[in-house]
Amino acid sequence: MKVFAVRGKFENKFGESIMSDKPEYFIDENGLRLDGRRTDEIRPMTMEMGVLSRADGSCYLEWGNNKVIAAVYGPRELHPRRLQRPSEVLVRYRYNMAAFSVEDRIRPGPSRRSTEISKVSGEAFEPVVMTQYYPGAVIDVFAEVLQADAGTRTAAINAATLALADAGIPMKGLVAACAVGKVDGQLVLDLNKPEDNYGDADLPVAMTQDGEITLLQMDGNLTHEEFIKAMEMVKKGCDQIFELQRKTLISRFGSEDDVEALEGSIETEPEEEEAEELSEEEVPSEKEDVSDTGDNAEDVDDSGEKFKEDVADFDEQRESGSDEEDKTSDEDVKDEEDEASDEDVKGEEDEQ
Ligand code: ADP
Repeated sequence: MKVFAVRGKFENKFGESIMSDKPEYFIDENGLRLDGRRTDEIRPMTMEMGVLSRADGSCYLEWGNNKVIAAVYGPRELHPRRLQRPSEVLVRYRYNMAAFSVEDRIRPGPSRRSTEISKVSGEAFEPVVMTQYYPGAVIDVFAEVLQADAGTRTAAINAATLALADAGIPMKGLVAACAVGKVDGQLVLDLNKPEDNYGDADLPVAMTQDGEITLLQMDGNLTHEEFIKAMEMVKKGCDQIFELQRKTLISRFGSEDDVEALEGSIETEPEEEEAEELSEEEVPSEKEDVSDTGDNAEDVDDSGEKFKEDVADFDEQRESGSDEEDKTSDEDVKDEEDEASDEDVKGEEDEQ
């Protein structure tokens, strides 16, 4: 029987001296890690969409011992108005660890770490969210870590992707995230807590379905060859996560056929044939319910043809001048227009 841990004082990756069980080794003679996984295996992951009734979109994710919930609100009007972007929507992302999410209580409120993670995670969605369709608006993404066990920023991105899809936000595709690291001189996929804390390297990565990297951070050192291999491993990990996300979309929106239609509706330029498939009769009723929850539900139309028309109108009006553009955005956010006078007053109050 092997002794796995050495009890003692160690310095963690945050430079804090902590009493902990540092494993004597991370990979046994059979090539298995302390939690029984092979080096290229990710932890078991489950996701459930639509868990919060007040959010426009939401997703609860468990990944190993990580528990994360993501909620999306919007698109909605952004206050104060000086923060508005005239030609695109602002995607605001807030990552937060609950005070009770780790062994020692975390001080509530933003920290340097959470501010950094929020910034880079929000940017990880920039290539996929079709920001041009909601000029001046904001989409708020909240990622709350309820239980942390290493890899929380990647877990939060995986949950946030499905929460955005659940909110009916037009996206070119999904984003998946996973970390790779190095322990005992070997590369390992999806680090667990001891591997993250005491390993030699930690490389969280997020990517689109096309393999475009949208987030890449690194702690520790890797050689050039190790880095190349690490990226190959992380790509395989993300492909597995895309598959899980796809299955979660199926369980949320219906049968395989329904999801094919759904995938068509989040593509930039749906193929002619696919657009035809997206006729009103064929679109699942669940999708209609979801799109209704957004403030600008009409933009995230459940018909491929209508969606294409909206895109064409939008591009045409943008080309023909700013007055027309204002008109388009007014049409797009007509729900908000009804409340415009109240919100003007509110906006001015906010700015004061
Ligand atoms: P990630 O969770 O994305 O891997 P880090 O590498 O910064 O981010 O953190 C690794 C793990 O360390 C976290 O998942 C969490 O379990 C733990 N951790 C992070 N910050 C703290 C903290 N302030 N106090 C205690 N544990 C923390």
